[in-house]
Amino acid sequence: MAKHVYSFGGGKAEGRADMKALLGGKGANLAEMSTLGIPVPPGFTITTEVCGEYYEQGKVIPDGVAPEVDAAIKVMEDAAGKKFGDPSDPLLVSVRSGAALSMPGMMNTILNLGLSDASVAGLAKKTGNDRFALDGYRRLIDMFGSTAMGVDHEHFEHELSGLKKEKGVKLDTDLSAEDLKELVSRYKAVYKKHVGSDFPQDPKEQLWAAIKAVFGSWYGKKAVEYRRIERISGLKGTAVNVQAMVFGNMGSNSGTGVAFTRDPNTGEDVFYGDYLINAQGEDVVAGIRTPEPISQLHDEMPKVYEELMAIRSKLESHYKEMQDIEFTVQEETLYMLQTRTGKRTGTSAVRIAVEMVKEGLIDEVTAIQRVNPDSLNHLLLPQLDPKAKKDVIATGIAASPGAASGKVVLTAEDAVAHAEKHPNDPIMLVRRETSPEDVAGMHLARGILTATGGKASHAAVVARGWGKPCVVGCDAITIDEKKGQITINGKVVKAGEFLTIDGAAGDVMIGQVSTVAPTISGDFAVLMSWADKARTLKVRTNADTPADSAKAREFGAEGIGLCRTEHMFFEGQRITDMRKMILADDLEGRQKALASLEPYQREDFIGIFEAMEGLPVTIRLLDPPLHEFLPHDEAGQSEVARQLNIPVEKVKHRVEQLHEVNPMLGFRGCRLAIKYPEIADMQVRAIIDAAIAVKKKGKDVLPEIMIPLVGTVEELVILKKRAIAVAEECQKKAGVQVKYQVGTMIEIPRAALVADKIAEEAEFFSFGTNDLTQMTFGFSRDDIAGFMPAYIENKILPVDPFQSIDVNGVGQLIEIGVQRGREGRKAKTGEHLKVGICGEHGGDPDSVAFCHKVGMDYVSCSPFRVPIARLAAAQAALADGKSISRDR
Ligand code: ADP
Ligand code: MG
Ligand code: MG
Repeated sequence: MAKHVYSFGGGKAEGRADMKALLGGKGANLAEMSTLGIPVPPGFTITTEVCGEYYEQGKVIPDGVAPEVDAAIKVMEDAAGKKFGDPSDPLLVSVRSGAALSMPGMMNTILNLGLSDASVAGLAKKTGNDRFALDGYRRLIDMFGSTAMGVDHEHFEHELSGLKKEKGVKLDTDLSAEDLKELVSRYKAVYKKHVGSDFPQDPKEQLWAAIKAVFGSWYGKKAVEYRRIERISGLKGTAVNVQAMVFGNMGSNSGTGVAFTRDPNTGEDVFYGDYLINAQGEDVVAGIRTPEPISQLHDEMPKVYEELMAIRSKLESHYKEMQDIEFTVQEETLYMLQTRTGKRTGTSAVRIAVEMVKEGLIDEVTAIQRVNPDSLNHLLLPQLDPKAKKDVIATGIAASPGAASGKVVLTAEDAVAHAEKHPNDPIMLVRRETSPEDVAGMHLARGILTATGGKASHAAVVARGWGKPCVVGCDAITIDEKKGQITINGKVVKAGEFLTIDGAAGDVMIGQVSTVAPTISGDFAVLMSWADKARTLKVRTNADTPADSAKAREFGAEGIGLCRTEHMFFEGQRITDMRKMILADDLEGRQKALASLEPYQREDFIGIFEAMEGLPVTIRLLDPPLHEFLPHDEAGQSEVARQLNIPVEKVKHRVEQLHEVNPMLGFRGCRLAIKYPEIADMQVRAIIDAAIAVKKKGKDVLPEIMIPLVGTVEELVILKKRAIAVAEECQKKAGVQVKYQVGTMIEIPRAALVADKIAEEAEFFSFGTNDLTQMTFGFSRDDIAGFMPAYIENKILPVDPFQSIDVNGVGQLIEIGVQRGREGRKAKTGEHLKVGICGEHGGDPDSVAFCHKVGMDYVSCSPFRVPIARLAAAQAALADGKSISRDR
């Protein structure tokens, strides 16, 4: 029979750090710390398997667990030298959740369990501290009531603030023992009123209710939401840790704290954290009192501080990772309550990885594997423009770097509602503090600003995890939810008005301040150079302008994988010429309009080719349906008619003519060039002439002409022949030869299936996975918002397939396409077919890993994701086909 319960404490343990799946992260590391000889209060862990079985059996504690728990209590009692439920000297315990992956704040912890009317008196007598005993009791009733029995915590909070008001005190710690006695009886009344029975006096009854509550929280709304956002699935459940209590609230020589072994913001090798004297549990992260920086502990309790520093280095050299620790000091004795891999910003992740290599703690390969590619976002976040005028109205604690501007929203619900109405509007969530209920709204915000809380507050931890700019503890802010406004140092900002924060400096500014793009340097550049050594996949970028091309190149792009030409037809005179072309009655009219467009197009390509000197540039011929270039409203149509000097009816008529029931499957892509070959001719001429012009300046380019939306080889035969004819003519005219290729996108399922045939003609393939996903699923990409969340929620799909390649379905078509394409090309020409991807997926680390696995030559993504793709490609190469588990 499987073992259900694992004991730890007193320098030994039955579990180990590598048993996270079974014991949860918290339990596994408590065991590991015990074995390392680090002071950990004794206790035991009920496995995640028990949680799984509990649910399988319809919320029943499986057979065999209770006797093991009883035995483990006995072991814990022996180690602690006290008995659970002893009325004269009770052993109190905490009941703590802990899944395999850390989910901060997602599950509820109950402290001081085992207290009752009888034992609270015993505890008071034994410790000679009435106040302390009663404080523990009232906390237990609150935590047990709200966590295990579902009483709204606010009801307890209400009594507490009421009593404080009556007594004229500000802090909880100002309440006397007498006051706390009163509070206990009020709390009990609240409990009885909402639960319907008295607060249980039997510690065992309390314990089992608490254990079930921890299991219950696994499917709580908050936990489910967190797993959804973080894409966590496949875990059995949460473990339960029952652990002897130590007390940080025994007076001024006690306290509790949280810390990181290095700075989670910058990665600097300094001890970083907060503590509170005379406090317990979550006080320090709840933002109730403002905590002290850890450095102050050095003056306040030098011996404890030194011990803590020693544990810090012991943990780092043991785990070879930055740790996030929780500790409590009971009357100058230090106890460790938790250690885990610390969440950090991308900036910090990179610095720590590189420095740990220099320190000899880890090697380069580990460093590459350790940084989550997505977290590089953080280093690529916009920074405030150093030249911009900024009026800093207030400064809080810099909790998560990057600068963000957004419209002020005062609740997470409002953020969700606002985002539904205006999905592209930037949101700035401003709260007193945040809590796990707020995560959905926080996720939608560009930046988060709170009035209270420290570096380890909920807002700070969550924002850092997501790489979102965040400022906390900005006490100059008062929030008036009723009026829908905030006041910052006397200035009123209404909901909906802009606020800017700089999460690296902690600064808050009213209005919008302009931002600039960052650069790759220092540790970031070092890590990238290691990644480049490791990867085999090339990384290109999707760019349509010289500026984007230059930026991408700075970020390491090795060419352009997708240059969309339609964007070049929208500005100024171009759109007018484009419309002239669309509205022309005949070929001659179209050619005239195209002739005016051609110089623009050529100049654009020259700029891009110059920026990409020496590298390949894939240019996609016109792709969208023509009606996208015409206005659909009356006023717009009259304006076009006026500009082109034609009757408005004519414009209207053409719009109606071009109207499509389903434009995504309509008259677009290569279908345009089949019907109007003169459009493609113009584009090819512009491309080749641009290449010739650049070559004349002594610069090399490799244009790759890409024909979109091909489904049959016949389409390609016709269009390729024509493109080559045009290109030859240009070269002949100029007397200059340039290298170029003609290839195609694979984005229609049929194209993947007949890839061998298509590859006989195509000199390269580029998978357009947006369309391929759309057409494989039959999901219109622009219309998924209505049902995709429900699909994810019901686990029909693990993730949005437009964000990360659907490996099982769309992935098969890609594999077929690559394989048949390469075979077809080889058989016909003996050449290796170059294959890449240019959909949005090219910047998604999991999709990059997939592209590596199926043997693509390159991925292409937006400029700001180029470094992310480089790192993801390196990780994929190092994983060598095995799946990559990313630390969330
Ligand atoms: P979370 O998973 O939310 O971090 P924890 O289980 O770590 O929750 O508990 C939160 C806090 O409760 C801890 O940081 C610690 O301060 C306090 N705590 C938990 N167990 C004990 C204990 N045995 N003695 C004293 N404090 C405890
Ligand atoms: Mg904790
Ligand atoms: Mg497409």
